[in-house]
Amino acid sequence: MAPPLTITFLGGLGEIGRNCAVIESDGELLLLDCGLMFPDLDMPGVDLVLPDFTYLREHSDRIVGCVATHGHEDHVGGLSFLLRDLSFPIYGSALTLGLARNRIAEAGLLDRTELIEVHDGERRTIGGFDVEFVPVTHSVPLGFATVLRTAQGVVLHSGDLKLDLTPVDGRLTDLARLGAIASGEGIRLYLGDSTNADEPGYSRSERSVGGVLEDLFRRHEGRRIVTTCFASHLHRIQQIAEVAIASGRKVATIGLSMKKNVRLAKELGVLALPEDALVDIDSVAGAPAGPGLCDLDRQPGRADVGPLADGVGLQQVARHRPRRHRHTQLAPDTGKRDERLPRDRRPDPPRRRGHLLGHRRRSRYGSREAGGAQDPLRHPQTGVVRTGAR
Ligand SMILES: [Zn+2]
Repeated sequence: MAPPLTITFLGGLGEIGRNCAVIESDGELLLLDCGLMFPDLDMPGVDLVLPDFTYLREHSDRIVGCVATHGHEDHVGGLSFLLRDLSFPIYGSALTLGLARNRIAEAGLLDRTELIEVHDGERRTIGGFDVEFVPVTHSVPLGFATVLRTAQGVVLHSGDLKLDLTPVDGRLTDLARLGAIASGEGIRLYLGDSTNADEPGYSRSERSVGGVLEDLFRRHEGRRIVTTCFASHLHRIQQIAEVAIASGRKVATIGLSMKKNVRLAKELGVLALPEDALVDIDSVAGAPAGPGLCDLDRQPGRADVGPLADGVGLQQVARHRPRRHRHTQLAPDTGKRDERLPRDRRPDPPRRRGHLLGHRRRSRYGSREAGGAQDPLRHPQTGVVRTGAR
């Protein structure tokens, strides 16, 4: 009789964050993602929430590896904690591994793992598991759906994906391949749990944001523009950079995660950003607005995650120390109220309250955000709540 297949979720099921599943067959354990969760507002004093690793520690000798589907913190951010106790190889795309590597290196644990790069459409054996990596489009590039061929049939784990027919990098979700597997071998079990997947409707293509940004930059010619997005949202960063360069601006980054991710993505060819378009924030921070500057703020890192952190706000600039940021001061000090903060996206549900509090605080200091009921930035994937300057 074929050996049974056991799937255990250590986190991430029906919640946003700490995605981690264990696939178990014939005495071997394969991890699918190992993420962390940012704390909710009702978790004061909590920096991060991790999956419960007890089961993995108890069966550490049977773990054959971890498949990292994509580079978001809620899918790979737990690795640098689990590797403190265990040692196993990690499989993923070059970008996913690069993003994970940054965190693992920061924790001094690179010697506890082997990072094994896999490519679109590749099929390989991990322990006794037969794994195929199917490309999917997502807000961080180079993500995979995972097809596992087991003694109990084919298991498809879609990971996080977006059905964007015109993605910024042209890399589509390979629906044809998934369809071929479904109609050929058949899929015995489909595991799919992407953020907001239970909301009706559809999201517009990420590419549609480019036109909105163009218009915004054009309307604020000669002014410095500060914009924010997740440090891993490289498609968005690409579009912001392209619009900034086309309007004669330079681009500078704020925050360590953003700086590291931009450098990594440039090295991997994921981000096309000419070297002379990128300037050091320290070299221009005191300069007048002049031709304008596009700053990219970062995703909250471990150091500054707090109950108010929403990952999309200018927490350094406009939230924690609104008027005393080392590099950027918002409008009130110049007596002007027309600075604009294009924001990245609607925050994940647990962060929405913090998001709103941040809006209130920023608006108190007189800065306006792009987006609002009448603004084209307000659509499902870039939706923002308008507060406006008072
Ligand atoms: Zn994701």
